[in-house]
Amino acid sequence: MSRDIPRAAVVQAVADLFRRANQELGADMVAALEAARGEEASPTGRRVLEQILENARLARTEGLPMCQDTGFPVVFAFLGEDAHVDDLAGAVDEGIRRGTAAGYLRASVVRHPLDRVNTGDNTPALLHLTLVAGDRLRLAVTPKGAGSENMSRLAMLRPADGEEGIVDFVVETVRAAGPNPCPPLVVGVGIGSNFEGVALLAKRALLRPVGDPSPDPRLAALERRIAARVRDLGIGPAGFGGTVTALAVHAEAGPTHIASLPVAVNISCHATRHAEAVL
Ligand code: SF4
Repeated sequence: MSRDIPRAAVVQAVADLFRRANQELGADMVAALEAARGEEASPTGRRVLEQILENARLARTEGLPMCQDTGFPVVFAFLGEDAHVDDLAGAVDEGIRRGTAAGYLRASVVRHPLDRVNTGDNTPALLHLTLVAGDRLRLAVTPKGAGSENMSRLAMLRPADGEEGIVDFVVETVRAAGPNPCPPLVVGVGIGSNFEGVALLAKRALLRPVGDPSPDPRLAALERRIAARVRDLGIGPAGFGGTVTALAVHAEAGPTHIASLPVAVNISCHATRHAEAVL
């Protein structure tokens, strides 16, 4: 027998998560930024980190968005096979609409990439649905700013390019992005799958608490290797130069074709937002 999750509960949860994600920087991000402030060698970089932390504090206490770009609404729904929701996609959009109004969030979505007409309420959300065991619904709302999304890249490498090729591509992507994606960054890396799947792996890598290493020791070693090379780029907080360019590198991998080595780099900014609930 399936468990019914009321549509209204989904609407309310998504509304709260979208507003909260934009106003309350996660404890993991705050901790990573505080650690970065202690590590950063450049005095200018340390001042930038101080301002980012103060901005996050003000957003939380005053109930204001932490950035003018309140992000493209990406929603991950992990739906138990023994749960049922009427009109999940409609409920998610209604939640985004209400969260946008409640949080006074900027409307940042256009209905078509060529006519550029703003939908006015941040809908439709981009909904990624995954079926999982159980009778619960886990929702992760991750508004994503365009400044960092626009600096993201994907490459179909050859298997012979190996780990060296992956590291070079990720580091070159961060180098080319420079100050544009508002560093310090969280760098999501997808490896494997196929053309569309690897981009989703990179995005899902950003869901992990910031700084938690991959549970796969080989991927964790690769994350450390990329992080060391990114550190040497010297881009620093806000791009003013310094030692902290990225707060973390997160990699996720998936099965792929014998002739493929897809790699995607989803760059995220110092306002990496993520709020979750389980219904
Ligand atoms: S990249 Fe991030 S911090 Fe920079 S403007 Fe966009 S949302 Fe804001």
